[in-house]
Amino acid sequence: MDYEAVIGLETHVQLKTKSKMWCGCANAFGSPPNTNVCPVCLGLPGVLPVANEEALKLTALTGLLLNCRIPPRAKFDRKNYFYPDMPKNYQITQYDQPSTANGYVDFEFNGGIARVRITRAHLEEDVGKSFHFERNSGVDFNRAGVPLMEIVSEPDLTSADMAYEYLNALKDILVYGGVSDCDMEKGMVRCDVNVSVRPVGTRELGAKIEIKNMNSFSGVRRALEYEIPRQIEVLSKGGKLIQSTRRWDDAAGVTEEMRTKEHAHDYRYFPDPDLMPFAPTEPWLADVKSRAVELPLARKQRFMKDYGLPASDAETFKNDVPLGNYFEGIAKQSKNPKAVANWVINNLRAKLSESRSRGNEALTENGKNGQSLLTSAPAELTLADLKFKPEAILELANLVEARTISSSAAQQVFAEMFDTGKSPTAIVQEKGLAQVSDTGAIEKFCDEAIAANPGPVADFKSGKVAALNFLKGQVMKLSKGKANPALAGEILERKLKG
Ligand code: ADP
Ligand code: MG
Ligand code: ZN
Repeated sequence: MDYEAVIGLETHVQLKTKSKMWCGCANAFGSPPNTNVCPVCLGLPGVLPVANEEALKLTALTGLLLNCRIPPRAKFDRKNYFYPDMPKNYQITQYDQPSTANGYVDFEFNGGIARVRITRAHLEEDVGKSFHFERNSGVDFNRAGVPLMEIVSEPDLTSADMAYEYLNALKDILVYGGVSDCDMEKGMVRCDVNVSVRPVGTRELGAKIEIKNMNSFSGVRRALEYEIPRQIEVLSKGGKLIQSTRRWDDAAGVTEEMRTKEHAHDYRYFPDPDLMPFAPTEPWLADVKSRAVELPLARKQRFMKDYGLPASDAETFKNDVPLGNYFEGIAKQSKNPKAVANWVINNLRAKLSESRSRGNEALTENGKNGQSLLTSAPAELTLADLKFKPEAILELANLVEARTISSSAAQQVFAEMFDTGKSPTAIVQEKGLAQVSDTGAIEKFCDEAIAANPGPVADFKSGKVAALNFLKGQVMKLSKGKANPALAGEILERKLKG
């Protein structure tokens, strides 16, 4: 019997706010332990939480970006459990009335567009972090009370790769929207993976296995690549699966059981009596709507359609938003946007990343020599540092298009304009790079080349077409590279055939 996987993800994302969810403490990563804390986020008795409005807005914005509904009323509930990293002994979350629900995400997968439905996105709070030392343990509460959004998907994912692509698409959307920086290194995105298998063709869901607290997308993919065949094997051998929670051991590359359903928590949810239910008003929603952005996939598709770009170029501009905006500013005025894209991607981006890696090399070298890391490392260049105006790229592309300069001369012009900021036309004049398209002048070079090379001329006449390229090369040489090569070819051919 053939089995298929059914996967649903619960993705936790730290929101990009200045302060925490219920107090004014900084939402910051990397501060010394227990420095961003106060009586509220330490759960001391007698304090009251005040909801962070920006966090509510970012969650509503996420709803819009994920095509969700924003219900007229949301509320906060207490999820009760005891754990040392949670000072109040309950986590404030949204149980049955989340901020937003019923949406979907479209993303590229397997050469097409896949859709995963979004059950809900709700707002809650992060917990502290436990540290275990040789003789004792400690808790850092800096993270306790950081606004955390949980995005729950319907079980619409069917493979490890699809889950991986979904997570990347989700991350792109959240970064685009300014909802979260989604910095994985800083633990800003964590994910619970729910997976079951069922015989192909059946509708009923199998026993749900939850793999808790994954902190990298590639980890999610690897865990699923292990877990799906494991479940299939159990069933194929006539075994039974029961609903349970497992842990991913990244080093060993296996999942292992933590607890089964009999030991599931009863969180005794109830509405938080300290927090009013939240009803978004029209002006409030209008403000959220004004912050909605074009989605990454829509941007990519628009770049392909409006500028006739291949998918790979559009992908580059989707991933590098400032570069894409830079391109768009020029491409709008160009008749040949693909040529502009080539300059922006193959030349400009290459130069910028070159400066970046040179900066890094200088840093490591200084470090190795034991000198200060702060001296003499050339700062890496960004688009804002460019010496030339964006229109210069358009001008350069037009010079090539009009055959005023050859494509190899154009490379020279680009390098010069990158270094000096001079206009392409000025550089062409200064360096005498203009192609000779004057037929008379080229005729003269052709006559010279023919006269000086009787062998290749005879070859061509006896049918060796390749000899023409040799003669064309001679014309280019005689003209010091300035003859318009296409024109030179045409004239040579006419003369030899005539
Ligand atoms: P719980 O109430 O145990 O948290 P939910 O029904 O809320 O479970 O689902 C949590 C996540 O698990 C969702 O992403 C959902 O799509 C997914 N899920 C639910 N049932 C299954 C299943 N049988 N197989 C795979 N994923 C599932
Ligand atoms: Mg759930
Ligand atoms: Zn605080």
